[in-house]
Amino acid sequence: MARRVLVIEDSDVIQRLIEVCLRPAGLEVETASDGPTGLDQALAAPPDLIILDVGLPKMDGWEVLARLRENPATKTVRVLVLTAHAQEANRERAGQVGADAFLTKPFRPNELRSVATELLASSESLAG
Ligand code: CA
Repeated sequence: MARRVLVIEDSDVIQRLIEVCLRPAGLEVETASDGPTGLDQALAAPPDLIILDVGLPKMDGWEVLARLRENPATKTVRVLVLTAHAQEANRERAGQVGADAFLTKPFRPNELRSVATELLASSESLAG
């Protein structure tokens, strides 16, 4: 079965960019455009990787991440956080709330693909 990636991002352009990056790697990509919808989708069918934007409507990415980590179903799902700001505070916060990786927008497609692939490989080895 193809590995599933859930992209929680309110920008259509970035959603599409991520899909274009990941589909050639054989990954199944699902999308959500706001925090609560993304959280619901993740809890209903936990994916192998979540790509999570911080600036989201209704519930920001930090809150979504905190809730994912509270729930046994999604506690260990790999999460890649995207932020628009390179501030060190964001990187620290991402680590504190349990992000597995962190990318600043704008990112290069190759960069995104390699981080996503690494996270999926690490999640595979964890699962045995
Ligand atoms: Ca955003």
